[in-house]
Amino acid sequence: MKFFKNLAVMGALLAGSPAIAQEQFITIGTGGQTGVYFVVGQSICRLVNRGTAEHNLKCTAPSTGGSIANINAIMAGDMDMGVAQSDWQYHAYNGTSEFEGNQFENARAVFSVHGEPFTVIARADAGISTFADLKGKRVNIGNPGSGQYATMQVVMDALGWTMDDFALASELKPAEQAAALGDNKVDAIIYTVGHPNGSIQEAVSTVDAVLIPVTGPEIDALIAENPYYAAAKIPGGMYKGSPDDVDTFGVKATFVTSSDVDDEVVYQVVKAVFDNFDRFKRLHPAFESLTQEEMISAGLSAPLHDGAARYYREQGWIE
Ligand code: GLU
Repeated sequence: MKFFKNLAVMGALLAGSPAIAQEQFITIGTGGQTGVYFVVGQSICRLVNRGTAEHNLKCTAPSTGGSIANINAIMAGDMDMGVAQSDWQYHAYNGTSEFEGNQFENARAVFSVHGEPFTVIARADAGISTFADLKGKRVNIGNPGSGQYATMQVVMDALGWTMDDFALASELKPAEQAAALGDNKVDAIIYTVGHPNGSIQEAVSTVDAVLIPVTGPEIDALIAENPYYAAAKIPGGMYKGSPDDVDTFGVKATFVTSSDVDDEVVYQVVKAVFDNFDRFKRLHPAFESLTQEEMISAGLSAPLHDGAARYYREQGWIE
């Protein structure tokens, strides 16, 4: 199989035509339009589509529900690639937590992107200054299908909380959450996301709101026991109302695919990103500090896709 595929590729190269013989559409799963995943997907597609004449790939990156929805869509073959939190990449590949009984053995890592602190932002008038203060309040947990919704469940389990501990646990999408905070429909929103991002900027410009630290022995234990969690800080001064650094924990945004996706396709996508890396980094402030070394190692728990490994090997980045 592999032999024939390589022959076809060789034939195409000899004939001077792209290795992907016919125009092929690929879809990248992202997240809400006010998040950073959407920018990741759009940016990757923009770089891929600059080279369509050479490689015959056309890329689209629609808005989706987020990490869990993306992984499920890739597993079902409905999408080719997607952005997902490192914790959910881990659980999908290992068939644990949310993916128990629904293991995605063919999950493959491509690279990681920006860090995503688990972020809590509360109305300044809500009487919330610690994570424990969320008890009894109206809290937006996020939409089911998002990674953050699932990660909030993990945090709640660690604390022994259930949804009943909140006066309201709403499931609004990122695009709706800032307005809900501003309109006093919720006291706080929870969002695991790269910074700065549009949704939180929108929230703090509509109402006085503050970032709430997420710390304590249960959080320390989550970090100590799970390789995909790390201590994180949201830098002071990034958002109005939060002049000081805020401590929390976080994950990494990662780019994932399936071993069912053709090596040449993944190779071309990875090449489009890393051949144009400076351009990529300029497409969002959350990408500014990305380094190639970290992107091909940190936060990846599924094996590297063969197409990605081929590019990294060619560059001398891996053995
Ligand atoms: N981490 C969020 C999730 O998996 C998405 C954040 C974003 O869209 O940037 O649902």
